[in-house]
Amino acid sequence: MENVQVFDSPGKGRGLRATRELWAGDIVFSEPGLAAIVFDNMADHVCHSCFRRQQKLHRCAQCKFAQYCDRTCQRAGWNEHKLECGAIKTYGKVPNENIRLAARLLWRVEKEGDEVSDVKLTTLDNLEDHVADMPEDDLKELKVDIHNFLDFWPRNSKQHNVDYISHIFGVINCNGFMVSDQRGLQAVGVGLFPNLCLVNHNCWPNCTVILNHGNQSAVNSMFHSQRRIELRSLGKISEGEEVMVAYVDFLNVSSERQRLLKQQYFFDCTCTHCEGHIKDDAMMGGLEEEGSKPSEEQVKEVTEFSLQMLEKMEKARLDAKYHEVVKLCRECLKKQEPVLADTHLYMLRVLSVLSEVLSYLQFFEEAAGYARKMVDGYSKLYHPNNAQLGMATMRGGVTHWHAGLIEVGHGMICKAYAILLITHGNTHPIAKDLEAMRMQTEMELRMFQQNEYVYHSMREAALKNQPMNMMAEPVAENIKSLFRKQ
Ligand SMILES: [Zn+2]
Ligand SMILES: [Zn+2]
Ligand SMILES: [Zn+2]
Repeated sequence: MENVQVFDSPGKGRGLRATRELWAGDIVFSEPGLAAIVFDNMADHVCHSCFRRQQKLHRCAQCKFAQYCDRTCQRAGWNEHKLECGAIKTYGKVPNENIRLAARLLWRVEKEGDEVSDVKLTTLDNLEDHVADMPEDDLKELKVDIHNFLDFWPRNSKQHNVDYISHIFGVINCNGFMVSDQRGLQAVGVGLFPNLCLVNHNCWPNCTVILNHGNQSAVNSMFHSQRRIELRSLGKISEGEEVMVAYVDFLNVSSERQRLLKQQYFFDCTCTHCEGHIKDDAMMGGLEEEGSKPSEEQVKEVTEFSLQMLEKMEKARLDAKYHEVVKLCRECLKKQEPVLADTHLYMLRVLSVLSEVLSYLQFFEEAAGYARKMVDGYSKLYHPNNAQLGMATMRGGVTHWHAGLIEVGHGMICKAYAILLITHGNTHPIAKDLEAMRMQTEMELRMFQQNEYVYHSMREAALKNQPMNMMAEPVAENIKSLFRKQ
């Protein structure tokens, strides 16, 4: 924690500022987290210790609920699970994710005191709960959770009053950090990282936060490195400058970002990008080509049409009707392309869905074209070192590679690697995958330049084995918010 200190950020309450100059890719701080749990709907697909998605998991024989990659992960997770395991057995069922996280937090505090992580910039008691700001419906749910929590909480654990339990639920609600799987593609759980809670929001931030799953491959769980978050610098940060992250994805117009932030985190964003409505026009505007420009009416009409189509696409995708998705996307694009800007959010959304689904259906060449348009649009909107941009560029690169478009594919993979080295660091599993792909595509590119025929026959053989298949079944939604709202 020597790179930051707590200070009073004007208009924002507490914040963290740099105590020395930092550069792109520097780790501002890293933090292991106080507790984390797997989401209810992910409980059968993710290891409850390392949070990796696995095909095959082994159930805890005691509670029949927790699942692990293997005995090593089970042993590594036992400390966190031991009291929970007993409580589930006694209770006779599994309480929901909020209750499980609250319980894990309180057991941890009971054992180690309310001293958060090794460096205590804050305590659990001092974190904001915003219970007073909660709307009526949320308060009702909170009451139900508290009631069920009290039923679940064992008699022989330290007892707490209702106000304190309500504070803990409030803290989880507005500070619970989304924990992703090892590929960073899907949110699989939620955890509490108290020092991270001190980092304020900016829509155009100077830092990003990622989850590093640590090294779980050691056979002896003693040698496992811990799951932790890293706050990483996206560019130069001067001494004394506040460090900030984006709580919501930048790809929303300013009024929408402000609405989300208010609803979820109870504050009004007054960052430069919101105040100046920076890039709002690019995200919602019409196509401007020399001399011609669609009328406002036309843009409005196509925008509304897109919104309806996107709903249909989402539904077809959830039903796994992928050919239907492709049909809808193509129809929508045909209307969008002559009217909307190439950075229009609804067009980018369609391009993203279409390229992803076409890749899954193995129409790589067509997918590659759309992926490229999507990445071009993202590049015009996002900060050059944005993690979402890096991930999208990686996807685009892999799609080109699979399509045999090795030159562009290699170029995009290199670009993605450069971004992810800053946002994820070279020890992160995704960066390692990317490095391997970069080397592989570089070799293939050389082969292609020497002899195209040899290259194409080799590629066909390689595609049959699918050595590095990144094209998982399309997931419904990428992680767009930093902290989770129920
Ligand atoms: Zn595991
Ligand atoms: Zn168990
Ligand atoms: Zn803002």
